[in-house]
Amino acid sequence: MPGGSEGPLLSTVKRTSDTRRCLEGVHVYREGSEGVESKRLPCGRRECAVCRAQWNRGAFFRVMAGIPDEGWQWVWYVVLTAPGVAGIRTGDEAVEWNRGSGLRLRHFMQEVRRHAARQGERAEYAATPELQARGLVHYNVLLREACVSDPGLFQRWAVAAGFGEVVYAEHARTRFGLVRYIGGYVIKARDHFPPGFRAVRFSGGWALWTEDPRAPSGWIAIPEDEDVRILRRVKRAMTVRDAWASYEMSCRMMFDARAKVRGWA
Ligand SMILES: [Zn+2]
Repeated sequence: MPGGSEGPLLSTVKRTSDTRRCLEGVHVYREGSEGVESKRLPCGRRECAVCRAQWNRGAFFRVMAGIPDEGWQWVWYVVLTAPGVAGIRTGDEAVEWNRGSGLRLRHFMQEVRRHAARQGERAEYAATPELQARGLVHYNVLLREACVSDPGLFQRWAVAAGFGEVVYAEHARTRFGLVRYIGGYVIKARDHFPPGFRAVRFSGGWALWTEDPRAPSGWIAIPEDEDVRILRRVKRAMTVRDAWASYEMSCRMMFDARAKVRGWA
């Protein structure tokens, strides 16, 4: 009997979707044709047990979005390493070095940018950190429009920025190889670095991807702590269109009332 089997099946589906629901998300609102619509979106953070798969996909596609269909052969793949054993001797020094690794990446990119700017280009990058066996942060960097033909330049800039002398720099043999390579590091970075550590870094122009994944275009995201307050107001308040209609109606009534008194009508 169809009704008998539908009942339990439905409740099973419901329970499954409940346990998979992200509790850290936001409510977003927009003015639809039927008035204010609201829906809940997941937080999208990699620390979230529900959202981590989604985070990974987002990071991966954003890396991909910066690799050109034509000219991908000129994208550099560069590994920036930590200094050798002579440079870092204790665990404290290792922690200290890791803390400054993001800043060193910035310094490195400043050198790359300065070089590219002389040739009228703006270098863009996507980078993901990796924790090496020594517990030190390395960076896997994809570089576009760097205008570099001599990979020795990367080593010079890396050392100047405080990285180790061992620098790998090469071009990928296939576009897919490039994507797969960095994709593997994205997943590793997601799992190895604590919340708050930027597991994938991009320069502003790496990918033309300005949309906030928490608020699709046309929707307004409300911070969680504001949520209850604003939801209450949204339920009570009118849409902008209704407010205008109400305003114009009161104008009309005022006009008509005066017109009657003063004999305009
Ligand atoms: Zn979440």
